[in-house]
Amino acid sequence: VDYKRRLNAARRQLDPHRIDALLITHLPNVRYLCGFTGSSGILALDDQRSAFFTDGRYTQQARDEVRGAHVRIDSKALKAATEWLSRRRSLRRIGIESAHVTVAEQNAIRKLVPTGCKLAAMPPLVEQLRIIKDSEEIARIRSACHLGVKLFDSVLRVIRAGVEESDIAAKLEYEAHRSGAEQMAFSSIIAGGKRSALPHGRASHALIPRRGFVVCDFGVILAGYCSDMTRTLHVGVPARRLRDGYAAVRDAQQAAVEAVRPGVSVGEVDEAARKLLAKRKLARFFSHSTGHGVGLEIHEVPRIAAGQKERLRPGMVITIEPGIYLPGKWGVRIEDTVLVTQTSCEILTPCPKELITV
Ligand code: ZN
Ligand code: ZN
Repeated sequence: VDYKRRLNAARRQLDPHRIDALLITHLPNVRYLCGFTGSSGILALDDQRSAFFTDGRYTQQARDEVRGAHVRIDSKALKAATEWLSRRRSLRRIGIESAHVTVAEQNAIRKLVPTGCKLAAMPPLVEQLRIIKDSEEIARIRSACHLGVKLFDSVLRVIRAGVEESDIAAKLEYEAHRSGAEQMAFSSIIAGGKRSALPHGRASHALIPRRGFVVCDFGVILAGYCSDMTRTLHVGVPARRLRDGYAAVRDAQQAAVEAVRPGVSVGEVDEAARKLLAKRKLARFFSHSTGHGVGLEIHEVPRIAAGQKERLRPGMVITIEPGIYLPGKWGVRIEDTVLVTQTSCEILTPCPKELITV
């Protein structure tokens, strides 16, 4: 991984934002820029230098992992970082990651910087760099997604009426770990029967009913990168209107996938799914946005939502996941993770979308 290139890209953000230095505290951003995977550390950079600060618990790990930045071990990492930044020259403005710094942390930083130096709340600068994945990142996301597809087979083998949702999730997660996943990307969703109407129905102790949909939404983290996919299957023979509901979501998902290509705005992709559901008078049951970016984190920019202007570019990895939810009755969601290519997109989670009944 070319951390020097990434750090230089971050550095080029200093001038346009009129800051002399930047303190990176959001750990996925730290990892992206210098490789550190531990749970505590700060990256500081100015127009010429970069240094990574962490405490004694991570001495070995930081030396092994961090590239492109000097490693400094200090029990007061924040203090060490601000002192290091002000040593070379007097600073007027230091950028902080406004979406990730708490009020308490901001107050602490303010006390540490020299008098006359201002803190400037930055928009998500590093997140904007992370929006385009390089070939190494794409390879890792593809592997994570392919593992996800493989794991769905093990879900299919255990789903049947009378089994606890959490037993199915446990089986899925056990297989994930055995196959090399570091951890799950989020709490697995296995939501059967009426619970399928909960867009975020985490696996519970409820039993899979004798008839009804089961929404399965899960992801793994493999080599640091997340996968994300959802399939909905049906236990027993589905009633006509449920079959129609499923077909509507499948067609909406297909329409949105087909809308994905460079230059198209993410709002247009959302519209493609919504328009199809509106035709079948189901749009009011589609209560969330169509998707999100995926990478080191499970939810990244861009947000694939109504009215969003961001345009798709090759190298973006996003999910396409329309769903409909009839409260107290049933729900369906189908989700793929896709890579924006030069001309259209590659589905990274190739797995059948015909309605499966078990
Ligand atoms: Zn998902
Ligand atoms: Zn998702």
